[in-house]
Amino acid sequence: MATLYLHIPFCKRICSYCDFYKVGAIELLPKVIGVMHREMEERANYIEDKHLTSIYFGGGTPSLLKPQEIEALISRAESLFDISGVQEITIEANPDDLTDEYVAALRDTRVNRLSLGIQSFDDRVLKFMNRRHTASEAELAVERLHRAGIDNISIDLIFGVAGFEGDHLGESLRRAVALDVEHISAYHLTIEERTRLGLLTRKGEYQPISDEESESEFLRVHHTLLDAGYDHYEVSNFAKPGRYAKHNSAYWQGVEYLGIGAGAHSFSRDNRTWCTSSAKEYAEGTFRYEEEHLTPDDKLNEYIMVSLRTSRGVDLQHIEESFGRRRREEIERGVERWLDSGIMQRKEDKVFVVSEHFLISDAVIESLFV
Ligand code: SF4
Repeated sequence: MATLYLHIPFCKRICSYCDFYKVGAIELLPKVIGVMHREMEERANYIEDKHLTSIYFGGGTPSLLKPQEIEALISRAESLFDISGVQEITIEANPDDLTDEYVAALRDTRVNRLSLGIQSFDDRVLKFMNRRHTASEAELAVERLHRAGIDNISIDLIFGVAGFEGDHLGESLRRAVALDVEHISAYHLTIEERTRLGLLTRKGEYQPISDEESESEFLRVHHTLLDAGYDHYEVSNFAKPGRYAKHNSAYWQGVEYLGIGAGAHSFSRDNRTWCTSSAKEYAEGTFRYEEEHLTPDDKLNEYIMVSLRTSRGVDLQHIEESFGRRRREEIERGVERWLDSGIMQRKEDKVFVVSEHFLISDAVIESLFV
């Protein structure tokens, strides 16, 4: 089994906190789509297993593509891979791209899951983030999708935002829960140096929240969404039972994937490859790939890192079978103190971070790296 990721690195407006690779030169998009078709053909053999389980259009802003362009890329995948087992085809979308016409045309494609970058239901916070939409536009977009019969919707929220009066996080959570979507990704705002928010912070015009406030907001998100019937199944991800993101879950389980587009990463066997992040070079067909060979220790560290960010945790039996008895014993010794403190739990051979403590999962992961 394998997955396919298609990267659309274009944005009409740049969000103040965003450090992803993206460009505003939307005029390059038609050329880029043509190259993506070609790249998919040329790189189809990168993955060993041609049976895809999911396809994901990420960005950037994939909803800048016309639904017909999305369907044409899915058809290209169908001509190269076996997609009969694909259960999930997701596109990330900006709420204000989801007009009635767009949603109606999307119904004619094989896309069956939408991931909406809503981030907040407070218009002051949205403006501060330089988002394109308002809170009510976001709600309308979800209603429109529901009316069109699309019942697999994820929304992104950002917490940990300082500097606004009133309970904007509580309001965002209340309105998010009211939408009754299947999946919610909730991220703590991070301040990246090369962003507008990074600049404001350096100039002293933005004061990040304290570690105590971060923890309290994280726990508030955790408890509110658990009470609303969501499982906290990954550090930043919550889902109604049975609605875990299949594409992302495949990443966290080490499944091979092919990434298409400028800046997209691919992974198979002992190799990770990524296409250089330049939409211009990509459109001109002059892009390059960089790659990294993964040693057994790299692969074990990667397994520890992705697994311990999920409620599944690590499987000691799998570690023994794939990396040897000595590595299993090292990990078993390493987790003892986290088990004693109640931060981790063990069920037979599975050891995992208790979701309430996901906020410190990075510290746990780092302590276990070989
Ligand atoms: S829409 Fe997404 S990728 Fe584009 S700037 Fe905003 S956060 Fe970044």
